[in-house]
Amino acid sequence: MTEYEAVELAGSVADRMPTCLDEIAEFCRIESETGKAAELAAAAQWTAERLERAGCQVKTLKVDDAPDVIVGEIGSGQRTVLCVQHYDVQPADPRDSWLSPPYEPSLRDGRLYGRGVSDNKGHLLSRLHAVETLRDRCGVLPVTVRFIIEGEEESGSRHLAAALSLDPGLVNGDYAMIEAGGTDEADRPVLWCGVRGLLFVELKARTLSMPAHSGYASLLPNAAWRLVEALATLHAPEDRIAIDGFYEDVLQRTDEQRSALQSVPFDDDEFKRTFAVQRLIGGRNGAEAVEAEIFEPTCNISGIWSGYTGNQVMTIIPDVATARLDLRLVPDQDPSTVETLLRQHLADRGFGDIEVNASGWRGRPYFTPLNSSLIKLAAQVSEEVFVSQSVSLVALPGSAPMYQVCGANNIPCVGVGFSASDTNAHGPNENLRIDLLEKGTTVFAKLLQRLAES
Ligand SMILES: [Zn+2]
Repeated sequence: MTEYEAVELAGSVADRMPTCLDEIAEFCRIESETGKAAELAAAAQWTAERLERAGCQVKTLKVDDAPDVIVGEIGSGQRTVLCVQHYDVQPADPRDSWLSPPYEPSLRDGRLYGRGVSDNKGHLLSRLHAVETLRDRCGVLPVTVRFIIEGEEESGSRHLAAALSLDPGLVNGDYAMIEAGGTDEADRPVLWCGVRGLLFVELKARTLSMPAHSGYASLLPNAAWRLVEALATLHAPEDRIAIDGFYEDVLQRTDEQRSALQSVPFDDDEFKRTFAVQRLIGGRNGAEAVEAEIFEPTCNISGIWSGYTGNQVMTIIPDVATARLDLRLVPDQDPSTVETLLRQHLADRGFGDIEVNASGWRGRPYFTPLNSSLIKLAAQVSEEVFVSQSVSLVALPGSAPMYQVCGANNIPCVGVGFSASDTNAHGPNENLRIDLLEKGTTVFAKLLQRLAES
């Protein structure tokens, strides 16, 4: 690509930005929060209509009562790029923490505020405008782009694999895009090069047919004690996970991965101040903390309840106690193996009575090797557009369904985009910076062009 053509591309992206922003605002008026069926259906329809307007071949995949998966394909050429996006959003609670109503997008100080403006409606529309820019400029889009857009990402993509299995050819492709990407505090482009896996489980102890008077506590077993004793066996000092065999499939991190993470900024003091802690787990600091965030699998208690927790005094023995755990996984851990290990661990320690329900969220980790041509090209293009060094984040500390889409054909993936470090996705006052929207869109348009030529 010559410099002249590249500049022209950036210009036409700029021309589209007012429309792109208007569309993001319109799309973000739909409250497509997890669990709101009518709003999710409206967002799915909005998505399908917008893809059709762009000239995509659109297909709807239906599985059970799950929100529809919308697939839109456009373009031609040797290469196929899969864009894995979603139209559902995290709930906007608590609403009184927002400075403007979450579903009435508002422009202030060079930013658009609203639920979904970044995660993921904004990124979805940015990708689409990049595609349209390139198509308008070339006459024909020189690469095939297949959007795979689900409505269950924020609650674990539970039906995505089943939906994709309805048409197995949909996961054929050469490259894939993770739903978004971003910048760091210094506005350097950050490439997301993978995602961690996840296993979500609910553990339940049941000891009695009903709650009992605590005067019987010397006779009747307490479900809360039963549960916390079982939970305690899963955990060792400094947050090591004590599930037998848990670390067995964890791959060694490579020197290349470790050195890439050296350039990821992490302000220990600020982080500790934010959460009012004196010390991070394991006494970690700086690069060591960043490395742990990506490479250390976890077993987190995300919720735990039992007995009476109201304002009055009530002396009962609880009959049931429940805990929810989310386990973040790293290559090459498989959530199904981890589930088996967890069940076996509990049984071996005499806790076979603890019910394990793992029917919720699960996904395998998926890291793209940093030396893949896709990552190198994404870094190059990002550096040209941002005129700044890029940072390769080996993987997001969080999770996304990249394995479901890319795993079967071992497709490399990367995330480029415009999420600023203070974009506040999932939190109140989610926002997008308009200057970064244009840059992120330009990066994707240029990357598509280079991939077409690859
Ligand atoms: Zn998202």
